[in-house]
Amino acid sequence: MRARAERGQVPTTPTEASIARGAGIVDADRLECRHKEPPVDSLGRNKAMSVTAALLKVFRVDQQLRGLKTRLHAAERFLAEQEKLLKGVEDRYAALASQLKQLRVSISGEEGETASIDVRMAKLREQMNEAKTNKEYSAFLAELDSLKKKKKEIEDAELAQMGQVESLTNQAAEQAKARDERKAIIAKARAERDERAAEIKGRVDELTSQRTTFAADIPPEALRILDEMSTKKGDEAMSPVEVVDRRAHEWSCGSCMMTLTVETVNSLSVGRLTRCPSCKVVLFSEEDLVSQKAAAPPKPKAKAKTAPASRKGKASAPAEVE
Ligand SMILES: [Zn+2]
Repeated sequence: MRARAERGQVPTTPTEASIARGAGIVDADRLECRHKEPPVDSLGRNKAMSVTAALLKVFRVDQQLRGLKTRLHAAERFLAEQEKLLKGVEDRYAALASQLKQLRVSISGEEGETASIDVRMAKLREQMNEAKTNKEYSAFLAELDSLKKKKKEIEDAELAQMGQVESLTNQAAEQAKARDERKAIIAKARAERDERAAEIKGRVDELTSQRTTFAADIPPEALRILDEMSTKKGDEAMSPVEVVDRRAHEWSCGSCMMTLTVETVNSLSVGRLTRCPSCKVVLFSEEDLVSQKAAAPPKPKAKAKTAPASRKGKASAPAEVE
């Protein structure tokens, strides 16, 4: 693969061609986006930026965006929490108001009932005065006693309900006060959220536009992988290859520290989108892996057999090329 890249042969399959656009040493600082220039220079070398370098540019922008938005997100979370608390207070207030309404309806009914009992009792007293026989008088008296008893029961119930009304009214007043206080906190939280959004808006717009420009150079599938990893791992969506021992061909993933095989590192060296076989992060290297690797002995000696990939028995799958 390396030899092919050095000879300037452009990968032939569509997937390779679309992803491994460059015989890329992966150095985002040195590699410029040259998509408007011919893909091959006079010596036949592929000059286009490697997909890894292009992804790294987008990833760096994403990191800045995440950093900028940290305080904004904290303000948004606080506001959301306060709104949830307000909803709780409002629900309790509404439940109390509904109970109060029912109680008042009930009390009003009882008042109507006692009023009609009063009317009946007055009438009975008149009838008692006009009673002609003892039996008649006794009957009126019995009804009067029964009505008095009933009236007392209704008045007792009414009294208990009025006590409940008082208690619920106090509770409703407390909830109303809590609601007003919470609303004031929310107004402040909202202002702070808006302020934080305004503070970073210019820079966020700038970075978002940069991201769009950078992303336009990247095959959609590669971008999808970065976005997916960013959602899962945030600032660790892309990770550098750590050189453990160059002469012994030992490299590891900067994210999960698992050993990387020569195949994986070679894939990265030719500019392919290369993921850590263990943790799936998109690998990159700030170093020129190809030429520095060339400085190493051409043939790994016996030590190669005990290379970390074999020793650890992990991360030994061939480089994953998406
Ligand atoms: Zn890893």
